[in-house]
Amino acid sequence: MSRTASLIEESLATIEAAINDYPSLSMPTGLNLSGLVMLDLAAKVGFSGKVIFVDTGYHFPETIELWKSLQQRYDHPQFVTIENLRGHDEMYLLNPEACCEARKVDPLANYLATEGVEAILTGRTRHQSSSRPDLPLVEYGSRVHVNSVADWTRDDLERYAVDHSIERHQLYDLGFLSIGCWPCTRAVQPGGDERSGRFVGQGRTECGLWTKGKL
Ligand code: SF4
Repeated sequence: MSRTASLIEESLATIEAAINDYPSLSMPTGLNLSGLVMLDLAAKVGFSGKVIFVDTGYHFPETIELWKSLQQRYDHPQFVTIENLRGHDEMYLLNPEACCEARKVDPLANYLATEGVEAILTGRTRHQSSSRPDLPLVEYGSRVHVNSVADWTRDDLERYAVDHSIERHQLYDLGFLSIGCWPCTRAVQPGGDERSGRFVGQGRTECGLWTKGKL
């Protein structure tokens, strides 16, 4: 069996098991390539739970367009937008970590808690940055994290996207390999770490979703 076929088989089996084990299984996504591949895989095994997007108020217009486009492509998942209730301010300049917490981490954590979500599908992979080298396929804690594409490399994801006509973020081919809010995201320099374009100048590569222990 080819590497690609083996990865697909592993991910489909992992997602299918999670669907069976956790009725409230949900999928937060920032619409990065790994999340788009994961959504496609999940759709193939009948995922009908919630796909959740947090509108921070600072997404690129292309991100919003992609979010709308996904809702046209996939019939069965329920697409949920957590709306931005904070308007706009300069917190991203003054205190970016607090901005991420207020605009992204807390709204998502509160939503998952309110909805009683016991497990989430994540698009995290080991190759994304040096901070994730040991990422397991499934993480057990107060909420189960199913990292169903943990083993995939960027080449694997790109190959799958081409083979399955996955619509990529329009900025991806301009070097935005990991895409967040426009004030805090830059194109990755050639040969750079995939997440090196995130939070440039802020001394961090994570927004806090996975490091604050709130999810
Ligand atoms: S990525 Fe930047 S703009 Fe977006 S929530 Fe975090 S600090 Fe605010």
